[in-house]
Amino acid sequence: MRLQEYQSKKIFQAYGIPIPRGWVTSIAGEAKQMAEELGGKVVIKAQVLIGGRGKAGGIRLAKSPKEAEDLATIVLGMELKGLPVRRVLVDEAVRIDKEFYLGITVDRIRKMPVMIASGAGGGDIEQTAHQNPEKIFTTTIDPLIGLADYKIRDLITGIDLPYKHWKEFIKIAHSLWKVFLDYDATLAEINPLVLSKDERLLALDGKMILDDNAHFRHQEFSELRDPDYENASAREAHKYGLAYVKLDGNIGCLVNGAGLAMATMDIVQYFGGLPANFLDIGGGASAEKVSAAFRILLADPQVKVVLVNIFGGITRCDEVAKGILSTIAELKPAVPIVVRLVGTNAGEGLELLRAANMITAETLVESVQKTMDVIQGGWSGDIH
Ligand code: GDP
Ligand code: MN
Repeated sequence: MRLQEYQSKKIFQAYGIPIPRGWVTSIAGEAKQMAEELGGKVVIKAQVLIGGRGKAGGIRLAKSPKEAEDLATIVLGMELKGLPVRRVLVDEAVRIDKEFYLGITVDRIRKMPVMIASGAGGGDIEQTAHQNPEKIFTTTIDPLIGLADYKIRDLITGIDLPYKHWKEFIKIAHSLWKVFLDYDATLAEINPLVLSKDERLLALDGKMILDDNAHFRHQEFSELRDPDYENASAREAHKYGLAYVKLDGNIGCLVNGAGLAMATMDIVQYFGGLPANFLDIGGGASAEKVSAAFRILLADPQVKVVLVNIFGGITRCDEVAKGILSTIAELKPAVPIVVRLVGTNAGEGLELLRAANMITAETLVESVQKTMDVIQGGWSGDIH
């Protein structure tokens, strides 16, 4: 789950990381009052869950309360990368001397959290890492040992921060690490962390991604979730307890069990295909879940074929087949569907599907080969 900037910054502040003064609102008139309270010059910041809001026109500098209202009206009427702006953050404008980057994420190769700093903050950090890797400094944090000061100092020597701000930077780095741990985050990022002209270090932007798998031990996460800002698929998946991650390919994969879902994706790739998603409908595979999963996959215009791979243990394959057929009758998908069923009552299930002219398979390899045939145009049968 991604948090909005204002939510992340509120958390940062509670952990002692300085942020600009400001409030969030959905009413342009309030932006004017806020600007008056903040001394006139403010930044109006669209609260949408996308990166690069600045470049997209969602961050505007207002020189007076009147301008704050005008700009808030404009920004509140905008759509950024398809997401409507429902709220803006009105922050005191800060005169920036230098922009840094400071973030913590999980390094899957080193299998440890890693703290990243750069003197080239403000922009797209992935791009900097790609084009100017020498400007990025990283250090791993062993969670059992914690974050040592010398590691932070190591980072600082790379980013050209005046010595008198080192102590404050070290404090901010420790706070960010504490936030990362306490919130079970997979990302806690300040970009930019600025040194202002009046010599303050401030988190001007904040981004946090919380690990949904840790949801069960954080009651407060439910309040942070903002369904308005999630895309429809993520919302639907969350509602039905499906684990869904959208990817770039064109083969929609509908699978029960995370391990099987990963194996399915691997085999699809092995045969030269590209999965459109990871989707684990979980145990039980009730008709309701099957139907929700189909709705999500079929709503993705990139999906050119759906590959269903169900292992029936407790779940009976004939029940799953009935669920698939009734869903198809209801949704009338325009793309072909390949179904592989194995396990309890698989024979009965496959028979039901074949009787309905579905493309079926008994082994995983067979199902992926048939899927690739469909993608490459080699399938000459009816689509279902
Ligand atoms: P993002 O584009 O979504 O990452 O949004 P940010 O909050 O990081 O803002 C983008 C850029 O706008 C920052 O890197 C700054 O250069 C600029 N910016 C944001 N707030 C202020 C401010 O208070 N004063 C000034 N001068 N620039 C700001
Ligand atoms: Mn930013």
